[in-house]
Amino acid sequence: HATKKSMEDHLDKYTKLFTLTAQRMRMIVDAFEETLDKGLQEWGQCVPMFPTWVFGSPTGSEKGDYLALDMGGTNLRVCLVSLLGGCKFEITQTKYRLTEEQKQEDGEKLFDFCAECIKEFIKVHLPDVTAENPIVLGFTFSYPCLQERIDHGILIRWTKGFGAPNVEGHDVGELFRKSLERHQVPVVLAALINDTTGALIASQYVRPTTKIAVILGTGCNAAYTEEIKCIGKLKDKGLNGDDVVAINCEWGAFDSDLHQHLPRTKYDLHIDEHSNKPGEQAFEKMISGRYLGEIFRLVVMELIDEGAMFLGQNTYKLETAYSLDTAFLSLMESDPTDELLTIIGIFSHFYGLETTLAERQFFRALARLIGRRAARLSACGIAAIVRKKGYLEKGCDVGADGTLYNKYPGFPQRIHQALVDVLGEQGKNIKTHHAEDGSGVGSAIIAAMTKARK
Ligand code: ADP
Repeated sequence: HATKKSMEDHLDKYTKLFTLTAQRMRMIVDAFEETLDKGLQEWGQCVPMFPTWVFGSPTGSEKGDYLALDMGGTNLRVCLVSLLGGCKFEITQTKYRLTEEQKQEDGEKLFDFCAECIKEFIKVHLPDVTAENPIVLGFTFSYPCLQERIDHGILIRWTKGFGAPNVEGHDVGELFRKSLERHQVPVVLAALINDTTGALIASQYVRPTTKIAVILGTGCNAAYTEEIKCIGKLKDKGLNGDDVVAINCEWGAFDSDLHQHLPRTKYDLHIDEHSNKPGEQAFEKMISGRYLGEIFRLVVMELIDEGAMFLGQNTYKLETAYSLDTAFLSLMESDPTDELLTIIGIFSHFYGLETTLAERQFFRALARLIGRRAARLSACGIAAIVRKKGYLEKGCDVGADGTLYNKYPGFPQRIHQALVDVLGEQGKNIKTHHAEDGSGVGSAIIAAMTKARK
């Protein structure tokens, strides 16, 4: 009984640290709204608000066959997307594995491999496509690029374990186009897109009332539809002010410059200092799947150091950084048994540790605190866009994707609750929905929209 009480005391302390009150969230939303605007007015801001050159929104009546190439972290995916109109589509896809060597090989070889995969795909699925009758392709390339046009993008730096030489600082569109020519692949590269933008456009295709898309996976980011006239930094580009363009916010960087707005705990600071990019992505590091498990592990390590748990047991397995995946938090929260058998299993199987019921109840409560904070912070970003664009009264739909959104128990409900906490009853007018496959379907729709505009 004594242990139980002390675990409850610990829990009180962490509850205070990880809880975001409505008042605190409102302050974050105010700052967020200002930050978004700054990024729209000037180049080179902390939250860069990249114009994607995807103009307008799909109507849902786009038709035709388009190809999409998605270069993810592990796979290369070629998709044939048949847009049927009436907000409907069909998709056929093939995945090709990318080896670790290919990710480090010269860029020319990497893009040559992409070209060969597409060529093979066309041979199998699209016998009518020839040099005289090429098919339009959208390329989902979700690495930070500076774009001056839709089919162009200078790779700023590789992420997600890629390191292919001779790509950083170069136009990826141009490199890929050369590979396509070398291999005589009958496609026209129409667009280079980022997965967040893809999710926005794909969600708009099936649900035209969608204005915002968020990705909550390994990282976190958002895109939304903005009016050209509200984007000061595009003033002299000769664009029509009444037109709209998708903005890739890259909002994971929020508050990385000032460190004034996010209530970062010492665990958040530890993660930042020990990350490969200290000082960057402050917002993302409090929210995304890559970090939530690590935040949990750091708290447990602190309790071990204080002698509050696992006395006399060997905790070395838990001492390895990033040894506790965010998926474990999901499992702990959804443990249906009174004894918390799933949590017993996780600790004994993966870390060789025995737990008491009081400890397990604490772990579940801690997972809840960390997961809830992540959802509430994500909601702050959404609320900032909603307020900035004045969507509160009419309401709007938000496309959302990523494993955290899709798999973490209660994540969508927590976002909705937070939107009500911060925006009042009208927050109920903002609804999130599972987004359509942005890197496949979204890419193809953007290719179709681009072709129509030309
Ligand atoms: P990406 O953003 O790279 O496309 P995903 O959307 O698949 O990736 O998200 C991967 C992240 O989700 C990883 O950080 C992983 O730790 C986390 N994750 C995996 N499974 C779960 C789960 N069941 N619940 C919560 N997070 C998970």
